[in-house]
Amino acid sequence: MQLILLGPPGAGKGTQSKLLETRYGVAQISTGDMLRAEVKAGTPIGLEAKSVMDAGRLVSDELIIRMIGERISRPDCAKGFILDGFPRTVPQAEALDLLLHKAAVDLDAVIELKVDEAALVERISGRFTCAKCGAGYHDKFKQPRVAGVCDVCGSTEFTRRADDNAETVHQRLLAYNAQTAPILPYYQAKGRLHTVDGMAAMEDVAQQIEAVLRRVGVVAAS
Ligand code: AMP
Repeated sequence: MQLILLGPPGAGKGTQSKLLETRYGVAQISTGDMLRAEVKAGTPIGLEAKSVMDAGRLVSDELIIRMIGERISRPDCAKGFILDGFPRTVPQAEALDLLLHKAAVDLDAVIELKVDEAALVERISGRFTCAKCGAGYHDKFKQPRVAGVCDVCGSTEFTRRADDNAETVHQRLLAYNAQTAPILPYYQAKGRLHTVDGMAAMEDVAQQIEAVLRRVGVVAAS
């Protein structure tokens, strides 16, 4: 399965793509996570990307395309992958077409998570993750069962993304509308675009996505 999840920051792409990874047994690829790992490790890519990410702008197509080309050629992608946060521009979408063509695979679907922009700032600015296992939480919508303790691994350390503040979120939304939204008609024209209601509860969104995947002939591994 080759799937793209599209939507503005805070639409739930990360949450849904992790659910799908488990259910369909394919690799989940988040270019944002990959970049944050580079920043944390202090690599040349990380150094180049950090200030751009902190400002809520998009890093260069060239850097991202190189990164994704290398990533999808790894063995864990042999059964397919879910792309979360890529492509984000029309040149990235065109480069992906070329990479897929070379790998002799096709896109099964591009799923847009449609959300109300007014709700996004609240969604994003309240989110935090377990520093140890990466489980996601939210100040308002999903507190750990025991305050300050991760439900999944018991760790007491949590992190918040540097770019999850109101000012940067505003800039990230501008970048989405100006640079990423134009790829919706690109995939519409190819007959690959499907839209689901990203404002529904997490489980409902997951069911809507699975319904789309069934319609295009993709069957879950479990
Ligand atoms: P995300 O975790 O997907 O919200 O991405 C966080 C930040 O990483 C974005 O605001 C961009 O600065 C950068 N980024 C992630 N993916 C891409 C991409 N495909 N193209 C350009 N920049 C990206």
